[in-house]
Amino acid sequence: MPADALELIRRPGHELAAGLRSGEFSSVELIDAHLAAAERDNHGLHAWLTIESASARAEAAVADSRLANARREGAAGLTALPPLLGLPVALKDLVSVAGGQCTAGSRILAGYTAPYDAHITERLRATGAVILGKTNMDEFAMGSSTEHSAYGPTSNPWDLDRVPGGSSGGTAAAVAAFHAPFGIGTDTGGSIRQPAALCGIVGLKPTYGRVSRYGIVAFASSLDQIGPFARDSRDAAALLHSVAGRDERDSTSAPVPVPEALLALATSDDAAAGALRGKRLGLPREYFVAGMELGVEGRVREAVSALQAAGAIVEEVSLPHTEYGLATYYIVAPAEASANLARYDGIRYGAGRRDGDTLANELATRGEGFGAEVKRRIMLGTYALSAGYYDAYYLKAQKVRTLIKADFDRLWAQGFDALVAPTSPTVAFRFGARLADPVSMYLSDACTLPANMAGLPGISIPCGLSDGLPVGLQLIGAPWSEAELLGLARGYEGITASASWRSLEPTQLALAGDRGQPTPAERAASAATLAGAA
Ligand code: GLN
Repeated sequence: MPADALELIRRPGHELAAGLRSGEFSSVELIDAHLAAAERDNHGLHAWLTIESASARAEAAVADSRLANARREGAAGLTALPPLLGLPVALKDLVSVAGGQCTAGSRILAGYTAPYDAHITERLRATGAVILGKTNMDEFAMGSSTEHSAYGPTSNPWDLDRVPGGSSGGTAAAVAAFHAPFGIGTDTGGSIRQPAALCGIVGLKPTYGRVSRYGIVAFASSLDQIGPFARDSRDAAALLHSVAGRDERDSTSAPVPVPEALLALATSDDAAAGALRGKRLGLPREYFVAGMELGVEGRVREAVSALQAAGAIVEEVSLPHTEYGLATYYIVAPAEASANLARYDGIRYGAGRRDGDTLANELATRGEGFGAEVKRRIMLGTYALSAGYYDAYYLKAQKVRTLIKADFDRLWAQGFDALVAPTSPTVAFRFGARLADPVSMYLSDACTLPANMAGLPGISIPCGLSDGLPVGLQLIGAPWSEAELLGLARGYEGITASASWRSLEPTQLALAGDRGQPTPAERAASAATLAGAA
């Protein structure tokens, strides 16, 4: 790749948007530079399940003609263009793109092609974003490491022997590795924020109902939210602005206007230095969980001090029902998953067995098509919903969920602007480290899943490194406060703009494209061998 292409893909989305408008480069050139990086690194990262070079170039050519027309109209024409026009975006492989694959990381959906565009795909097309391809993920978004993908794991660009987090690990790795400035993930219990933290980028889970779930493969419908990944909060605001908003086809998408403040954040050069002054931030003591790494706690506390130095008022607060978050999540999410995944009967979606009677075919299709983690969730969920256990488990979990939400509501009523907490208790872990013990994998999300249980927006932003690996700072806000959260994130980015860690890049990115290096699947296999020998 020419040196200028390497420089180009490192620029943030808003600078690329400016370059397209001024004619510094074309969208086709920009897309080619990103495609080349994605294709080069996919051997070592396996962030992408498909890279759609031909359709991406065609979409880029359309964007170039829109840009040329706007340039002829002059300044007014250029400012009227949508912020994402001609810019590349990575989609988690559970977003429907008409005519394209949509595996949700599962073998059961191999060969299935989406018959229509998801709501967010329509929105991305309308704003002229260029879809580069589909990224790897834990099967049906169940997991925190992307090791549960039926297509093999993804590596973390900071250390190829470690996981990128999950379940949206492919998107997070792709954005961190400069394959795209924008990416889409879904977050049911942390799957945007946790991989964003582990890969050193920004990831935002919107308020439940902010983004339509139409055309997204469902995991747990009362928890799932679609949201943006980016390398800074300004780009995250641009992507959220383009996909958010009411959609008649998802009855849970809320008729709440998309704040214009998001667009202002995305397009204004103002560093919003004053954004932190006088803001009241709660520091929930329950989020500093047992088992949290000292380096992670250290970076988060330093970030809190920096926020205070910039004029924020930080007070320790309590969310007393936090300790029940994990247990209740692992009733509610599997219960909903067991219902949602009942549709994969071998007849309606993807390739199924056709050689026995109907029931035998269905059992064989599901037996062969689902991986171990998905089966575990279906069994847990079916059990929790069965007659005699429904009241003891599912109903009880829903009641505790109300208490978890009430903990947060109390703080919003006291006038807190947001809560500040770690995103993940640890940095990226090694392949295999949590596979043998599902509960240790589930604990990865102890700090993220309460926001899903309460339907709240949350964002993870980079706040430094521990042992050379990224640490994420989480901000959780009241319902519909995404613009405020992004404003705070922008303020934090402003006060840490010259921090030395900001200039560091994923340390093993250069190795990813080296064909002599093992693939993530080979690394994971050797980790499993080492664990077996231990
Ligand atoms: N790790 C959690 C789970 O496995 C959350 C996943 C997600 O947010 N999709 O359920």
